[in-house]
Amino acid sequence: MMSLATTSRATPSPSLDAPIETTRASAYLIPTDRPEADGTYAWQSTTIVVTEVSAGGRTGLGYTYTHKAVTSLISDTLGEVVRHRNVLDPPAAWRAMVRATRNIGRDGLAATAISALDTAIWDLKAKLLGVPLASLFGRFREAVPIYGSGGFTTYTDADLREQLSGWVEREGCSCVKMKIGADPERDPHRVAEAKRAIGTNKLFVDANGSYSVKQALVLSDRFAAEWDVRWFEEPVSSDDLAGLSLIRARAPSGMDIAAGEYGYDTDYFRRMLSFGAVDVQQADVTRCGGYTGLLQVAALCEAHHTDLSGHCAPSLHLPVLCAVPRLRNLEWFHDHVRIEQMLFDGAPEPMNGVLRPDPTRPGHGLTFKFKDAERYRVA
Ligand SMILES: [Mg+2]
Repeated sequence: MMSLATTSRATPSPSLDAPIETTRASAYLIPTDRPEADGTYAWQSTTIVVTEVSAGGRTGLGYTYTHKAVTSLISDTLGEVVRHRNVLDPPAAWRAMVRATRNIGRDGLAATAISALDTAIWDLKAKLLGVPLASLFGRFREAVPIYGSGGFTTYTDADLREQLSGWVEREGCSCVKMKIGADPERDPHRVAEAKRAIGTNKLFVDANGSYSVKQALVLSDRFAAEWDVRWFEEPVSSDDLAGLSLIRARAPSGMDIAAGEYGYDTDYFRRMLSFGAVDVQQADVTRCGGYTGLLQVAALCEAHHTDLSGHCAPSLHLPVLCAVPRLRNLEWFHDHVRIEQMLFDGAPEPMNGVLRPDPTRPGHGLTFKFKDAERYRVA
């Protein structure tokens, strides 16, 4: 029998073993800098829902890009579910939130609410422990490679060339992504313009599910042969797993097929991976259940020998992507980069095509500028 002196059972101090006290949420609608569209959707504003969770005299911050309706779900229904739970156990709070949303539909809006709260609870735990989140998760890597993403179908050729070459020259990106699919007849011309702007750097395209399987197969051959396109995202709907896996099998060998940004639960990713639908699995921490959900997706990717790519919200993804076993890259998405640099202190800045978590900031290191954001507030 071990003596008390040699037993190393961790006993959190009373101040750390803190119950969650309050949750708050607010929503902000931020106009885009120019009209934006992809292959299947057009928009002129983006809504961010921000949540704060407090315990032990500290506050954790989380957010998601979703509808303002989510604010009441966070502050009322889910706020009640997580209140009084131990902030040191984010997975237990996550499980309780998943159960509480069963009868209202766990996917979609509810999943974005769970994601925002989960990231806030992890942030708060790391702050109470006084460590950066990347250290709390435990790292596989010190830095996360990014790729510039935008190239909206509303842009002129000059806008497209300027934005894509800017990421190569300024941020040091060796890969950049553009939207296609709004006008398939014009896509080859736009892809040629983009490739001309970035030279030997790698071009990715994202059709947001707008093509048919046959259209996508013809274009994948042409994109690869003429403009060396290396990544074809959602060539067909991400719900068409048979279509995706057929395209994956037939596409040129240097071209990866990617999808997964609309995944809200772990089963979604299991189905996509076990179907062999993608070369690169995408996931979005603001939709897939926060850091707890993303770490589950990362384990699935490891078991399926498939790289994971972080979708949008780069500042929030950074710490957890340091901790996933198989990482391809993180999307440096124009809309979200603009919002995060405008409204958050501590938003990471890329250098030579990578982001590094700030080791001097506990948690994810982000602070929301509530005063500056007030003019955009809608809930
Ligand atoms: Mg996409």
